[in-house]
Amino acid sequence: MNVKIFKNKFSKCIELDKKLAKFTWFGVGGNAEILFVPENEETLSFFLKNKPKTYKVLVIGAGSNLIIRDKGIKGIVLVTKKLKNISIDDNGIISAQAGASDAEVARFARDYERTGLEFLLGIPGTIGGGIKMNSGAFGSEFKDILIDVTAINLSGEFRIFSMKELGMEYRAIGISDEWIFCKARFKSASDNKKNIEAKMKQILRLRKTAQPTGVKTGGSTFKNPNGHKAWKLIDQAGCRGLRVGDAIISEKHCNFIINLKNSSAQQIEELGEIVKSKVFETSGIRLNWEIQRVGMK
Ligand SMILES: Cc1cc2nc3c(=O)[nH]c(=O)nc-3n(C[C@H](O)[C@H](O)[C@H](O)COP(=O)(O)OP(=O)(O)OC[C@H]3O[C@@H](n4cnc5c(N)ncnc54)[C@H](O)[C@@H]3O)c2cc1C
Repeated sequence: MNVKIFKNKFSKCIELDKKLAKFTWFGVGGNAEILFVPENEETLSFFLKNKPKTYKVLVIGAGSNLIIRDKGIKGIVLVTKKLKNISIDDNGIISAQAGASDAEVARFARDYERTGLEFLLGIPGTIGGGIKMNSGAFGSEFKDILIDVTAINLSGEFRIFSMKELGMEYRAIGISDEWIFCKARFKSASDNKKNIEAKMKQILRLRKTAQPTGVKTGGSTFKNPNGHKAWKLIDQAGCRGLRVGDAIISEKHCNFIINLKNSSAQQIEELGEIVKSKVFETSGIRLNWEIQRVGMK
């Protein structure tokens, strides 16, 4: 199908050749050939059923764990920001759509006096990104709170995965990239608002002391290798404050790369690769990227 015909069909939710930098925390990245922002799950399903088969789809939630490369993305970029409903049923089960922010879900749980989701306040992503990354903080991760997830494949078909079927492990998930997460159900327990508030305040305090805030970053750059802390290995390799252009290793938390102002995606990636080799030279340990790097170089 010709891209312009496709655009006319989905005119309300599609833009062509759209700059992606503002969709990521790093503030870098080229353009999306087709940017698709569905209003609801029905539009999403209809779109996937009608899209040209050869077009790949990249999903962006809050873009807090993403480097989009400077030459952008060929194909479709789906942004989930409008899919953000959160609800609770009579049994206290909380449901949230993929584009709901983790922090909003944590606050929703607090308002309904449900405990167990407080750690979400410390993760600046969406529910969809959190499932994909099995994100975690302060001793809890997504796999600890998920009941099940409704996903849709590239042919527009829905399927529900139980938490076990998702094969979640440390910052990874076991199902194929063809699944786009639409919504999830979470378990929680009842507690009073005061206790929940206290836990949330403590999380915010800890985050402020340990991590750089108010900066352009992608969070932890590398996964912690088994039995090691990535930040410690990076520090021991002398990389604290290391810089390529405007990309710099944070002085406060050296597993964070910061875009000081006008860094390119290439500079951020290059800095990461230099850190990887320095860590390997000093410790013999190979770091693996936690941040997802996508698009054309
Ligand atoms: C300041 C800062 C602090 C952070 N602290 C933490 C932390 O404490 N713990 C932690 O685990 N992470 C942390 N992160 C990383 C990041 O916030 C998490 O990984 C978050 O869950 C990513 O969610 P997102 O919506 O931003 O995903 P994105 O960055 O938009 O995407 C990440 C990946 O998920 C995929 N994806 C997104 N939505 C969907 C969907 N609906 N269906 C299928 N795939 C999808 C994307 O294609 C991509 O591969 C931090 C990041 C920053 C910037």
